Amino acid sequence: MSKRTINFYAGPAGLPMEPLKKAQDELLDFAGTGMSVMEISHRSKEYDAVHEEAIALTKELMNIPDNFKVLFIQGGAHLAFGMIPLNLLRKDRKADYITTGNWAEKAYKEAKLVAGDRVREAATTKSEKFARLPRPSELQISPDAAFVHFTSNNTVEGTQWHEFPKTDRPYICDMSSDIMWRPMDISQFGIIYAGAQKNLGPSGVTLVVIREDFLEMCEAQDLPSYLRYRIHAEKNSLYNTPPTFGIYILRNILAYNKSIGGLKTIEANNRKKGELLYGCIDKHSGFFKSFVTEKADRSLMNIDFFLPTDELTDTFVKEAKKNDMVGLKGYRDIGGIRVSAYNAVTVDNVKTLVEFMEEFVKKNG
Ligand SMILES: *Cc1c(COP(=O)(O)O)cnc(C)c1O
Repeated sequence: MSKRTINFYAGPAGLPMEPLKKAQDELLDFAGTGMSVMEISHRSKEYDAVHEEAIALTKELMNIPDNFKVLFIQGGAHLAFGMIPLNLLRKDRKADYITTGNWAEKAYKEAKLVAGDRVREAATTKSEKFARLPRPSELQISPDAAFVHFTSNNTVEGTQWHEFPKTDRPYICDMSSDIMWRPMDISQFGIIYAGAQKNLGPSGVTLVVIREDFLEMCEAQDLPSYLRYRIHAEKNSLYNTPPTFGIYILRNILAYNKSIGGLKTIEANNRKKGELLYGCIDKHSGFFKSFVTEKADRSLMNIDFFLPTDELTDTFVKEAKKNDMVGLKGYRDIGGIRVSAYNAVTVDNVKTLVEFMEEFVKKNG
């Protein structure tokens, strides 16, 4: 078997082995066609089966109610930052955005480009470098907001909403870095979107889960067709050529996720990983310092911490690499270490890292 590096990259990120193996096995001859899935029509019955299965598995794993549509769109979360206001903030509609990090702020700025003052900041923790989430008392949600936009996991800063912001308005949520990390109630969301390349699959596919009443709000007839959610919904994400290979890999990964017990199993693994990592950080709190200031806001997907000096940080990254662990260097604006422990990172992978951290403290603490 070929060597597999322990991958803590923030995105694109590691993928589980089995679905990749399956892709390798059928790369040259997919479903008896004598061609790869990349080489056949997106309207062929062989591809169609993959497409439908990817949609069905998404619905099943996330327990998505019938009044939602599952779409695969391109352009990443970035295109969604623009498509959401373009489709929804027509006429005099207003929206509230909670800015809790680098990506949340981008979403807010893009929405403002489209809808100006009708897009309002419901809360921000920017003055504290986004090192915690806003408290309930800090949220200013307006009763006339068509939706409240938030980012469920702040990939750069390492915070995560374990309890969603309290509001009676529908949510729109960027779940790019924690989609399917656990089971959750989908009904309160108008739209969920996520670039696949962190917690789900390869880059190039963006999952959009949209509620029917939100689709109905998308009346923008004057937008170019590709930018209209309704067209993607009416055409079942086959309006134009979808990223067929990406959706195929996604299908393989979702099928694998189902085979290991679905999101309940995945949640249990993620919680175990979090306990191990934060357990080690807290045990050595004189050496490792968490970036996030409120324990309740700590992310189980991205774990940001500092070592006593920049030199030690560099040494940590280099020595980890020698031990076949990559992707640990912190985001440029924050520094330190960032461990991205998405769904595909195993409990064993994290155990290996924690053993390495323990050794590192012994040597350098
Ligand atoms: C990575 C990331 C993005 C950017 O995604 P693209 O697919 O590159 O557009 C947006 N939001 C969050 C929360 C992310 O983690």
